[in-house]
Amino acid sequence: MNCFDQVEFADRSEIERIQAIRLKNTVYQATASRFYRGSLAMAGVKLSDLAGHEDIKKLPFTTKEDLRNNYPYGFLTMPVEEMVRLHASSGTTGSATVVFHTQNDLNSWADLVARSMHMAGVRQGDVFQNMSGYGLFTGGLGIHYGAERLGCLTIPAGAGNSKRQIKMLKDFKVTVAHIIPSYALHLSSVFKNIGVDPKSLYLRVMLIGAEPHSSEIRQRIEDIYGVKAFNSYGLSEMNGPGVAFECREQSGMHLWEDAYLAEIVHPETLEPVPDGEVGELILTTLCREGMPVIRYRTRDLTRFIPGVCPCGRNHRRIDRITGRTDDMIVLKGVNIYPMQVEKILMSIPEVGQNYLIELEREGFLDQMRVKVEIRDEYFVEDMRTLQALQKKITTLLREEILITAKVDLVEHDSLPKNDGKALRVVDKRSQ
Ligand code: AMP
Ligand code: ZN
Repeated sequence: MNCFDQVEFADRSEIERIQAIRLKNTVYQATASRFYRGSLAMAGVKLSDLAGHEDIKKLPFTTKEDLRNNYPYGFLTMPVEEMVRLHASSGTTGSATVVFHTQNDLNSWADLVARSMHMAGVRQGDVFQNMSGYGLFTGGLGIHYGAERLGCLTIPAGAGNSKRQIKMLKDFKVTVAHIIPSYALHLSSVFKNIGVDPKSLYLRVMLIGAEPHSSEIRQRIEDIYGVKAFNSYGLSEMNGPGVAFECREQSGMHLWEDAYLAEIVHPETLEPVPDGEVGELILTTLCREGMPVIRYRTRDLTRFIPGVCPCGRNHRRIDRITGRTDDMIVLKGVNIYPMQVEKILMSIPEVGQNYLIELEREGFLDQMRVKVEIRDEYFVEDMRTLQALQKKITTLLREEILITAKVDLVEHDSLPKNDGKALRVVDKRSQ
């Protein structure tokens, strides 16, 4: 199977025709694995039941627990000798899950990443610096091979070592960078410390993703670096980057539907939500031979954006991820997503680049403390100014999350930072 063909601009009927064929192939292939042989037999689905893409509904879901319980080889459809690479999820929740790839799988994946980067305006001749962690994380090698496939001079910078990153950006006249949004903001303070204006570089495109971020964060990144920043979505269970990506319109991410069959369901009833409503994204690989995954519950919350994108691509768009079903905070009976807090904070000009939500228990009462970095120029000695700011943040937050959080204003660059995905919530209630 090869995903690199002319389907990028295919019409809906062509996409759905491809999906129907590939779904059948995928299910046929999957029955060669120990896990699916069992689960598909139990569901009593025969290949002849799968006529069109909508017949996906007849198949059982696959969960992260299924992947963990069948660790390491229970999902393989071929002998392990046929596999040439493995990756693992970053394990933000629980232990990591491992995914194996054949050479064909890696080729299809690289094609999808190349297609995605091309859609965002990256071209042969661009100099591309990949500032995400290499190793098991898919944002390293996954993006790397796509960039090479596209013909970019590709710099495997990896994460961290900010001064060296900046030197390479300058010395090699880097035009495109892939970077985790929270690291992009942190890096901007290193630029400031060494007195270099990020806009004086050659950067014109940044690919940002791998972690939830608000449109306010994207706006900040674009302003700081003087670039267009494109949202990139993926997860290791579905290869990694290259699942959904923004086009130049920047109005939602096209999900490559020739390679992934997507559904959005209510996270509890598991029934499809009405078009345009938010629910849990369910994905099925359509181009993977070594380790196909069917109806995977991503736990990511998003919606299909109704309507057609002006760019002319007919692969449906998903909205930016608003949270995960498992990162919802329940506090005093109210459900809150960290992204709601971020949206408010990042819309306040005095707020700097980083924040941390801490959940505490005082006696029998749960409490949210929000530590907020304040920009240097606003971190003044005048207590009254700071108190006014603290009050403003508390009020704006209460309007959004209906809870009065304790707000601590802290100095720029004082909160802990990660080279990888940012840690936004620390739950101290059970400690
Ligand atoms: P991993 O498999 O460890 O790379 O983690 C994948 C998870 O990262 C996804 O399931 C999402 O929760 C999150 N993620 C990846 N890309 C994005 C993005 N562009 N926006 C929001 N969350 C993302
Ligand atoms: Zn588009």
